[in-house]
Amino acid sequence: NRDIEAQQQVKGDFSAATLNYDSEECPWSRSMRTAMRETFKIKDYRLCQRAVCNANLDGRDIVCVMPTGGGKSLTYQLPAFCGTGVTVVISPLISLISDQIMHLNELNVLAAKMTGSTSASEIKQIKTRLTNLIENNVDRHLALLYVTPEKISKSKDFRSLLQRLADNRKLDRIVVDEAHCVSQMGHDFRPDYRELHLLRKLCPSVPIMALTATCPPKVRDDLVKVLGLKPFCKDNELDGTLYFTAPLYRPNLHYSVLPKSPQSKKATDTVVNWILKHHRYDCGIVYCTSRKQTEELARDLQAAGIRTGFYHADKKDGEKEHLHEQWHRGEIQVVCATIAFGMGIDKRDVRFVIHHSISKSLDGYYQESGRAGRDGKDADCVIFYRPQDAWTLAGMLMGGEEKMFPMLNFVQDVVECRKLQFAHYFSHSAELALSAWGDDAMDPCGHCDNCMRNDSEKEGRDVSLEAWQLVKLMKKVCVSKSRYTAQQISDLARKGKVAPKKNAPAETVDMDRVCGGLVKMDAEQLEFLLVWMWTKGYASVKYQQTAYTTTAYICAGPMAFQLSELRKEEVSGSGRTMVTLPKPSKEKKTPKGKGKSKEIVVSDDEDDMFEDDDEVEAEYLN
Ligand code: ADP
Ligand code: MG
Repeated sequence: NRDIEAQQQVKGDFSAATLNYDSEECPWSRSMRTAMRETFKIKDYRLCQRAVCNANLDGRDIVCVMPTGGGKSLTYQLPAFCGTGVTVVISPLISLISDQIMHLNELNVLAAKMTGSTSASEIKQIKTRLTNLIENNVDRHLALLYVTPEKISKSKDFRSLLQRLADNRKLDRIVVDEAHCVSQMGHDFRPDYRELHLLRKLCPSVPIMALTATCPPKVRDDLVKVLGLKPFCKDNELDGTLYFTAPLYRPNLHYSVLPKSPQSKKATDTVVNWILKHHRYDCGIVYCTSRKQTEELARDLQAAGIRTGFYHADKKDGEKEHLHEQWHRGEIQVVCATIAFGMGIDKRDVRFVIHHSISKSLDGYYQESGRAGRDGKDADCVIFYRPQDAWTLAGMLMGGEEKMFPMLNFVQDVVECRKLQFAHYFSHSAELALSAWGDDAMDPCGHCDNCMRNDSEKEGRDVSLEAWQLVKLMKKVCVSKSRYTAQQISDLARKGKVAPKKNAPAETVDMDRVCGGLVKMDAEQLEFLLVWMWTKGYASVKYQQTAYTTTAYICAGPMAFQLSELRKEEVSGSGRTMVTLPKPSKEKKTPKGKGKSKEIVVSDDEDDMFEDDDEVEAEYLN
């Protein structure tokens, strides 16, 4: 009988047979399918789950990149359940571990955790179990043991336990979840993950599996190096590390970028109103940049009658756990959080993920927004964007253009389908075969904001003259010692003068002499254009640090000469620089009556843009 055979040789001599792991021809296939249905209550494999499970049971090193919510957990939990030893899972957050344990216990799969908060008696119990396992003294073996990376880096005791398990062939595999945290090139580096290089040294014969949702090639190569995985498998070798990826496109997620007011009160009101209008009774996450902002927004939402909590790194562990529980039980509907919240959280009915400000990278944004709609039902992913946030973020990160630009291109692009933007980005950066997205990989999604826009809104505008004027202006002010923020450059360009500080005398620039007149453009659009010019190298950023904040100043960039060396007549109307600018927002105050022109230098409203700078968010900068 095949099934009995499978039990006996679950880690057997299958390798030699075939490398086609995506099949049901493996010795353990039938028992694995049964376990999937009966124990895990899952009807069928999806994405690359089957192949990954098979490769796991065949003892391979694996890198598996699957979208958030794709079902990465099953790819090691099912093999763990089918095997005879223990699978050790390294996972970055206690909340995430608790979630998994809860879920596994419900399914009656034996799983335990060892984290900083596990009591001594629990640890003793687990150790006894494992010792019994080593001595073949069990009827039901502990299938999964979850630990935080600190256990590996800090506990000698635990390391020697691992070694003993491995020496006795009772350690089936080691799984590193959220493995991109290993790499400093990634968007979420965690120092304790670095120490995971110890694993391969401690137990060289135990296969290692790395799991993540985002993995550009640099990160992938880095994690192979750090974890000491075998070189990637070539030509169906029987030995190297196997690399699995799954389609990244999630058709139930509806992406859009919405305009955000320069005033913070209005900006929060927009978020509150959007939730009231579109998801009054649904579950959602609002990502904020600062801790202060999470608390303020939560208060506003609460005042609007929405049950809201907030979450950030300053909260005590107990408070965090409490919030998680309330959220899971549906007692809290919306969580306002910094990016410290949500990694790997398995809440399936999140109907919207709002970004109150842009993420620091497109990988990060993909990951964060991907926490919506894990149940496969429709969900909204919305970013509220204003150009000044680009400079605020630049000041916070002090560089990192390489990661920021794809994010900025995403929010500034009001033409291309969001799905295709992700596809281009990931196919380029993760060398993902687009065929993995299916035959319609390059078809627009048809339901994102850009797909819904009509053609007239997508028309490019010839801003050659304005770009040329700005370049001239930036060159001029870069030469003089003055330093100007984007907003001040915008004021100078449109009005010829600016007050560097509140109540300070205005500085002026003779715009006629510098660039043949004032730049005729709406303030919002001009700031948008400046961000565009930054991403294209026409502008660059210099940083100045004070005790509390870093300010980003705008200068001419390395490509500026391409415009500045031309004469005005050569650029004006030349179609050299075509950009699709967003429509000016409707709420914009239009001058009424007799066209009384106000002499605004720096109004309170505009000064508002600096208010969020006072607090640099540690989680954000990690
Ligand atoms: P992630 O890839 O983000 O780690 P999870 O492993 O947490 O995703 O899985 C997300 C959800 O999808 C879980 O609720 C899980 O039970 C469910 N799931 C996983 N695999 C399948 C499948 N083959 N069919 C249906 N649901 C699945
Ligand atoms: Mg996960």
